[in-house]
Amino acid sequence: MEFSGKNVLITGASRGIGAQIAKTLASKGLKVWINYRSKPEIADALCEEITKNGFKAAVIKFDATNEDDFIEAIKTIIDSDGELSYLVNNAGITNDKLAIRMKLEDFTSVINANLTSAFIGSKEALKVMSKKRFGSVVNIASIVGEMGNAGQVNYSASKGGMIAMSKSFAKEGASRGIRFNCVTPGFIATDMTEVLSDEIKQGYINAIPLKRLGDPKDIANAVAFLLSDDAGYITGEVLKVNGGLYM
Ligand code: NAP
Repeated sequence: MEFSGKNVLITGASRGIGAQIAKTLASKGLKVWINYRSKPEIADALCEEITKNGFKAAVIKFDATNEDDFIEAIKTIIDSDGELSYLVNNAGITNDKLAIRMKLEDFTSVINANLTSAFIGSKEALKVMSKKRFGSVVNIASIVGEMGNAGQVNYSASKGGMIAMSKSFAKEGASRGIRFNCVTPGFIATDMTEVLSDEIKQGYINAIPLKRLGDPKDIANAVAFLLSDDAGYITGEVLKVNGGLYM
């Protein structure tokens, strides 16, 4: 896999899928900027693990829903490295409940965390990447944004919105050499799915043609491909990584 760029910012990267994306991209030679919001000890430990293995990493604290802080973080990265080559909008939350019990705040908080954060990051990345006429952004959406899910009206709206937004960004970025794509994970074994009961997890496993939950590495490999030069003619695309659950 070839990378013409040199660094990447991954939001929400101290644990789960984001942490694995950081490890995978660092092992491919990129300097990884590990964004965290609330747990410096986990972010620092990940950074140390990556650098101990001889790869490049740094931590950067900000809340991805805060526009000023996101802009400041990108400025810090450019002051340090002279550029931002790649961005992975990975930060996300769930707040599941049936729609009839969902308060407006339950809806808007998930939209903010998942969709608004990716809008801020994509917009700022497009600005700075345009100067070098090079860059690639991958947004971590979800299978739920493609097929819907009971109890996740807020989450599915945020991820479906992310898919549509990425396609529009792809159309705006193409003439400047900037690509935007989405990865849509199925059910991946992380803290986010750990809260599900064994019964619900087994139900998903039974329904998944490949008969297992996904591993964060499955997602990280897809992200690496879409960011890399190997995907240089791919933009506005949605790469499903779901074991065949939704084709
Ligand atoms: P996770 O284990 O719950 O981790 C989520 C990460 O996002 C945490 O590091 C969290 O930081 C961070 N985060 C949340 N809001 C943030 C904010 N405003 N600013 C900065 N960081 C923020 O979740 P995951 O399973 O790794 O999920 C990663 C992404 O994949 C999410 O976008 C999720 O929707 C998507 N996804 C996951 C699955 C799955 O099955 N796991 C399936 C489809 C899509 P804190 O530690 O501070 O909370």
